[in-house]
Amino acid sequence: MNKIAAGRRVAVRIRKRFAPPLPRPMKLPTAAVFLFAFLLAAQVYARRAPDITVAPAGWGLASAGEVRAVFVSAAGEIWKFCSDTKLGGISVFHRDDHPQTEWERGAGGRIVIGIAARDRHCAQMAFQFAHEFCHALVAHSNDWRRKWREEGKPNHWLEESLCETASLFTLRAMARSWQTSAPDREWASYAPEFAKYAQERMAASSRVGAFAPWFRRNEAAMRRNPSMEEKNVVVAARLLPIFEEDPRGWEAVTFMNLGEHDRRMPLSRFLAEWHRNCPPRLREFVARVALALDVRL
Ligand SMILES: [Zn+2]
Repeated sequence: MNKIAAGRRVAVRIRKRFAPPLPRPMKLPTAAVFLFAFLLAAQVYARRAPDITVAPAGWGLASAGEVRAVFVSAAGEIWKFCSDTKLGGISVFHRDDHPQTEWERGAGGRIVIGIAARDRHCAQMAFQFAHEFCHALVAHSNDWRRKWREEGKPNHWLEESLCETASLFTLRAMARSWQTSAPDREWASYAPEFAKYAQERMAASSRVGAFAPWFRRNEAAMRRNPSMEEKNVVVAARLLPIFEEDPRGWEAVTFMNLGEHDRRMPLSRFLAEWHRNCPPRLREFVARVALALDVRL
């Protein structure tokens, strides 16, 4: 036996001595507990990261992977408070005109969102996606076919204002979270941009004075045209502190638009229906939103 062969035999003996014992086959109850724990962990992980796919083209200087990381991060700031909500997968594509969430689902039952931001405009991208993600929660969560999903709803301005609130909420949350846990360490430098973008967006709302008289003057116009951003942001600035104090309220928006299809429905009745359609634990939150809009439920 030469030296090399002898060395190999010693090495095999050492390995045998220090090799960990082979695991014994698990008993059935133990295996079941492990399987259950694994499935639960997988489910929790799946819940934490919304299922978002991004079309490869149209994002200019940004890659689809970078864009997707921003969308996942933005959606996550709201999604983490929606522990009991079911939402389908989301397919995002770039469109040149304006961001939009489709009323109807696309191929494979996926929610379809178009985003107009591109290149490295990270704050704008997060802002637009958070707005559309809120529309997805309102229109496509849980038993989504039961929801009133079409143009011409008289209180649709409130949904638009809540989606504006979602954008402000998300940017302010990302300004904090990206300081320590941005998707890429180098992206932490974007964190102050998020706060600045939200602040600039809200600046005009402080110039309208007291909310109640402003709202009385503007509600009729908002019922006619729900997409006036300069008005929706005034409502959003009013509602933002309520969501920042109790972010579980994001789950409450999933219970909107389950009431009567009445094109003349006053705000008070719309809010009362929303309140009634929420599970009891979320009703107090809707009552706070109503009070901020001068409606007592
Ligand atoms: Zn919108």
